Amino acid sequence: MPDTLKERIARHIKMSGPLPLAEYMHWCMADRKDGYYQSRQTIGRDGDFTTAPEISQMFGELIGIWAIKTWEQLGSPESFNLVELGPGRGTLMKDLLRACQVSQSFFNAANVILVETSSLLKETQAQTLSQHENIRWHSSISEIPEAPTILVANEFLDVLPFRQYIKAKDKWHENCVGLDEADELSWVLGTGILDEKSLPGGHTTEPHGSVFEVSVIREAFVENVASLVAENSGAALFIDYGHAKSGFGDTFQAIRGHEYIDTLAEPGLCDLTSHVDFEALKKVALDKGLKTQTLMTQGEFLLSLGLLERAGNLGSGKDPATQERLKNEAERLALPDQMGDLFKVFAFSSMPELWPFSKEA
Ligand code: SAH
Repeated sequence: MPDTLKERIARHIKMSGPLPLAEYMHWCMADRKDGYYQSRQTIGRDGDFTTAPEISQMFGELIGIWAIKTWEQLGSPESFNLVELGPGRGTLMKDLLRACQVSQSFFNAANVILVETSSLLKETQAQTLSQHENIRWHSSISEIPEAPTILVANEFLDVLPFRQYIKAKDKWHENCVGLDEADELSWVLGTGILDEKSLPGGHTTEPHGSVFEVSVIREAFVENVASLVAENSGAALFIDYGHAKSGFGDTFQAIRGHEYIDTLAEPGLCDLTSHVDFEALKKVALDKGLKTQTLMTQGEFLLSLGLLERAGNLGSGKDPATQERLKNEAERLALPDQMGDLFKVFAFSSMPELWPFSKEA
C-alpha cells in the first residue's frame, strides 16, 4: 500500500517540525498526487459540497447579464478577456455563455479564459463546455493576455491557503500542525510571531486564545487581477463567504460528503476553506487605483440582477413541478437564512460605476 497523504504529512512533520496552517492546506489541496482538487470529483450532489452554479442555471445566466452590461459600460471593446478563476465543473461559464447569446457582438468579442490548476477538473470543464470553441485554459493569472478584462470567481478565494495566529501571553503566535504523543496530527503553536502592525484595531482587548487569520496568497491573487484590470480596463467580481471588516475568529473548516468534519482528520479527502477578509482585498484594489464597490450580499446582488424575473420567465407555461423547483432554487440562492446573506459579492473596476452596485460611500 502506498503511503496516504496523512502519513506523508506526519513523516514530514517528524523530520522538519510543525507545518504552518498555510503549508498544511497547500499539501491537502494541491499535492500533485493526493491533493483534494487533483484527485477527487468534489463538487455537486455526489461530491462533498454544492455551489451556487450547481444549484441553479439562473446563477450563471444572471452573471452573464452582468457581464454584458459591464462590457457595454467599458465601451463595448471589440476584443476582451472573459475570465473565470477556479471554474469547478464549468457550469457557471456554460450558463453564462448561453445567456450571453442575446448579444452576438458581446459573444464574438469575448476571449474565454479559464484559470484552473487541477487537470481532473480541466477535463470536466472541457466536457461541460464542449459546444464552445476557442476556450483557453491557463494555470496562472500572469498568462492572461493584455486586453480589457471581465473576470468572475465563485467560491475560489476561500480555498486558497491562509495563516492563523493565536493570542497567547499578549503575543500572536502562528498556529501550526504538529504531532501529538500518539503521532496523530494536532495543533501546536509555532515559533512565528505576527508583527502587531498587521493586526486590526482592537487587538489589545482581544482575549487570550483569540484567532487572527491572514491570507497572503489570496491578496496576491487579487493584486494580480487588479493589476490586469488597472492596466487594461475592466472589472472583477468575486463571490464568496467572508466578512466586510477585518476581525478576529477561527473560520477554518473541512467538509466531506456535505458534513463538517475535523480539519486535521482527513487531509486530501475533504474540502478545506476559510472566510475571506474582504477589507484586506479592498485595500489591495484601491492601492492599484481602482474603484471598489460597496459589498453586496449574494441575495441583494441576484435580486438586483433580476432573479425573480428570470425564475418567472423560465417557469412561464411550465408544469407546477418545474415552477416549484425554480422557486426553491431562487430561494436557496437568495434567502437570508440560506445562501443569500452568508455569501458576499466583492467587485472592483477601472470605471467609476459598476451595475448593479451603488457608489462606494
Ligand atoms: N467556481 C466553482 C468551483 C469552486 S471550487 C463553483 O462555483 O462551482 C474551487 C475551484 O478553484 C476548483 O476548480 C479548484 O480546482 C480551483 N483552484 C483551487 N486552487 C487554485 C489555484 N491556485 N489556481 C487556480 N484554480 C484553483
